[in-house]
Amino acid sequence: MTAPARIETLFDPYALRAEFPILKREINGKPLVYLDNAASAQKPEAVIEAVADVWRHSYANVHRGLHTLANEATEAFEASRAKVARFLGAARPQEIVFTKGATEAINLVAASIGETLVEGDEIILSQMEHHSNIVPWHFLRERKGVVIKWVPVTEDGALDLDAYEALFTPRTRFVSLVHMSNVLGTVNPARRLTQIAHAHGVPILFDGTQAAVHLPLDMREIGCDFYAFTGHKLYGPNGVGALYAAGDWLERMAPWQGGGEMIAEVSETGVVYADPPHKFEAGTPVIAEVIGLGAAIDWVQALDRAGVMAHERALLDRVEAGLSEIKGLRLFGRAQDKGAIASFTIEGAHPHDLAQIMDKYGVAVRAGHHCAHPLMQRYGVSGTVRASFAAYNTAEEADAFLEALRKSITFLI
Ligand SMILES: *Cc1c(COP(=O)(O)O)cnc(C)c1O
Repeated sequence: MTAPARIETLFDPYALRAEFPILKREINGKPLVYLDNAASAQKPEAVIEAVADVWRHSYANVHRGLHTLANEATEAFEASRAKVARFLGAARPQEIVFTKGATEAINLVAASIGETLVEGDEIILSQMEHHSNIVPWHFLRERKGVVIKWVPVTEDGALDLDAYEALFTPRTRFVSLVHMSNVLGTVNPARRLTQIAHAHGVPILFDGTQAAVHLPLDMREIGCDFYAFTGHKLYGPNGVGALYAAGDWLERMAPWQGGGEMIAEVSETGVVYADPPHKFEAGTPVIAEVIGLGAAIDWVQALDRAGVMAHERALLDRVEAGLSEIKGLRLFGRAQDKGAIASFTIEGAHPHDLAQIMDKYGVAVRAGHHCAHPLMQRYGVSGTVRASFAAYNTAEEADAFLEALRKSITFLI
C-alpha cells in the first residue's frame, strides 16, 4: 500500500550510503533506520580513514616539534584550519579557533566577553536555544549580575523579529542565537538578525551546530561576529569543533584557558600570549580529530549540497504528510524556512515509550527535551519525539519510520 518510495531529486542517497559502514547494521533483526542525526551523524569511510591514517602514519604532537612526524601532523592540523575557514567563508584561517565542540566555543566567548561585563549589562538569547547557548550565559547572570533577555518563539516556531528588536536597550552588550534549531528545524534569518544587532552596536554570535550541516555558509554574507559549530554532527569526529571570530575579535579578547601552546613566553613575573588563534588553544589539542574534521569538510563540500538540501526537504515533506494523518499528533516547528527535523508529541503516548518501541523495529529516534528546556516550557511539554534526517536517509526509511511509529502507537494507546 505504500507508494513507490524513491524520491526524484538529482542527488542519489543510495550511492552515498555505501560509504557508511554502520548503515549496514541490523538492529533487533531489522535494518537500521538512523534518524538521530541532529544528535550526531554517522561517519563516512573518508573520515574514518583520515583519522586512522593519522594514528597509523603521521601522529605526533603538533606545533613544537623539530622532527618529521611533528611537522607532518602540524601541517595537516593547520591545513584543517584553512579548510574550516574556507567552509565558513571566513576571511583568514587565523579567525578559526579549534575547540572540543560548539559547547566549548560558546563557553570560550561567554567567559572572555563576560570579563568585560558588569552588573545590569544585558544579553539577548532566544527561547529556542540549546542549553549550550544558555548555561554559559547563566554563569554570567549568577556571577556578574548580567541580565538575560529572551526573544520569544511564535507558535509556528519562528523567532518574533519585532520582539527581538524591541529587546535592545543602551545596556545590551551581546546577542547569542541559534542559526538552525535542533528541535524545530527552524532556520533563523542570520543576516537580518545580525543587521539588527549591529544597528544597535551590539556583537552577535550564532550557534551554527545544525546549520553547518544543512546550509551553505558564508560568514561575510551573514556578517556576524562569532559562529560556533561541532564536528560530530557534520559527519566528522566527536571531540572537535570550531569557533569563528571575525576580524580582530581574537586580538581584542582576553584568553580563556591557560597552558602550553597558547603562550609566546612565560616567566616568574608574567606571560606573553601567542598570537591568535593559538592564544585560545591551550594544551595539546585533539590532533587526529581536527584532521578528521578537515576530511569531513572535504567530504561534505564534494557533495551536491543543493541536491542534498532538496533531498532532505523531500524526506521531511514525506514524513510530515504521514504524521499529519496520525490522530492526536502535535507537530512542533512549522516555520517557513525549516530544515529536515520533525519534532512531535502524540496524545496519550510518552515520547520515551514511543522511541523505545520504535527501536524494536530498528528505528533510531530521539525523545526528550533535546537540551532545550526553555523551548519545552514555551510549548508546555516535557519532551518530544524527534526524527532528524541526513543526506544518507532514504524515502524507504521515512516510510519505515512512519510504519514503526504507527505500530508503536497501537501498543501504547
Ligand atoms: C548539538 C548542539 C549543540 C552542542 O554541540 P556539542 O557538540 O555537544 O558541543 C549546540 N547547539 C545545537 C543547536 C546543537 O544541536
